[in-house]
Amino acid sequence: MAKIYDIESRTFNEYLLIPNYTSKACNPSNVSLKTPIVRYRRGEEESPFSINIPLTSAVMQAVSDDGLAIALARQGGLSFIFGSQSIERQAEMVRKVKRFKAGIVVSDSNLTPDDKLQDVIDLKAVKGHSTVAITDDGTATGVLLGLVTSRDYRVSRLDPETPVSEFMTPLDQLVVAEEGISLSEANDLIWDHKVNQLPILTKDGNLVGMVFRKDYSEHKENPLELMDEHKRLAVGAGINTRDYEERVPALLEAGADVLVIDSSDGFSEYQQETLKWVKEHYGDEVYIGGGNVIDEDGFRFLAEAGADFIKVGIGGGSICITREQKGIGCGQATAVQMVAKARDKYFEESGIYIPICSDGGIVYDNHMSMALAMGADFLMLGRYFARFDESPSRRLFVNGSYVKEYWGEGSNRARNWQRYEEGTKSGGMVFEEGVDSYVPYAGSLRQNLDSSLAKMRSTMCACGALTIEEFQKKARLIRVSATSITEGGAHDVIPKDNDMRS
Ligand code: IMP
Repeated sequence: MAKIYDIESRTFNEYLLIPNYTSKACNPSNVSLKTPIVRYRRGEEESPFSINIPLTSAVMQAVSDDGLAIALARQGGLSFIFGSQSIERQAEMVRKVKRFKAGIVVSDSNLTPDDKLQDVIDLKAVKGHSTVAITDDGTATGVLLGLVTSRDYRVSRLDPETPVSEFMTPLDQLVVAEEGISLSEANDLIWDHKVNQLPILTKDGNLVGMVFRKDYSEHKENPLELMDEHKRLAVGAGINTRDYEERVPALLEAGADVLVIDSSDGFSEYQQETLKWVKEHYGDEVYIGGGNVIDEDGFRFLAEAGADFIKVGIGGGSICITREQKGIGCGQATAVQMVAKARDKYFEESGIYIPICSDGGIVYDNHMSMALAMGADFLMLGRYFARFDESPSRRLFVNGSYVKEYWGEGSNRARNWQRYEEGTKSGGMVFEEGVDSYVPYAGSLRQNLDSSLAKMRSTMCACGALTIEEFQKKARLIRVSATSITEGGAHDVIPKDNDMRS
């Protein structure tokens, strides 16, 4: 007869934390959210790869492209660039993150001196930017010959056919700087010379990018910024169990710092083979996570197959219909608890600590703390990040509110069949495991993250913890009844505003 577990499958919402003693030293400004993400011998050494906040963004088309990866790494987290695209495109996104230099923007509006005023006007209409770099070949990396800004022409006075060379500000009248200049030096030049932008050039005069005065406030140091050893932003990438022999080398060549096998069910021979191949070819130099699993058997299987971290969660994602379609999965809170227990047991036996990532199912900010308290070392979120300006999907105005599009990898829109049908040769999806949806637009990543992390630090302090490891050890949780869930929200009052919680 089938085994029936004698515990129930539960979600984060069904728990609350009981506070511990909070000393004066235990205040949010002293909390460290740094957390290991790859295996190590705990007690003897540190994890060779840690992130500065315990959040990673989901391996999804609607979430993790280079734009979101840059924004998140600048705040200390890590994105896994989605793998349901061509190897070349994915590697190019990784490269873009690696090339990113804080405050130096690659010029997106470029023309040659022979172009006409009308071209300037047309370009401005498309890009929305008023600074146009004039280079010898009209590209963002050509030799800089001048700049055109709105101060250089008056549409009412100048024939649209006038060549750019006649009204641009030529190079010899521009303030420029050489590659290698620090951001604060660049800003000093901008202020000293009262200019609005500073082109950065190579020794040979080729354009590298621009520093804009208007971005000044953005340039303030991000103390938690997640960097590799070459001071480039860190970035992860998703792979599948089919084309890894081509995809992995291309992603590593592009500079990916961590890989993850993106699959709805990691307890499979395909994952074992993929992990084995990566470890045989790259040894411990390359970090690769596996998943997803929801119990001890799945965890052990991937731990023994060599996974550097293990993702937990089946069916808890906001866009996920796997449980309805296949009857497979487990409440995210219970899955995290079961796998955390397995990780601790494995550590006691082997001395090896394998971080686990709670993937999906975070609805309210407090669920982030709940997942960590239950033993997750870090989290992966899709819906949360999809709502921000930096996510790749479109922002739309629907029924009086701004929304962003958010679709599952198993939806017909993404058709990421490699994630779901690891074994099929032909490819293609027979049925959907995800939906195409909208999520409420929420503004910038930084603003939202600041508020979510402030809540996390505050919760940790209430539980007497200054680190995630301490939080996991000290946390005391209690299950809530259905009626006490109602008591937990605003109740028996008439709220003045819309519900602003997240
Ligand atoms: P969310 O943070 O609750 O939106 O969940 C995001 C997670 O859902 C991802 O990291 C994936 O593990 C999972 N996921 C992504 N696409 C699908 C899908 O189409 N069906 C089921 N799960 C999905």
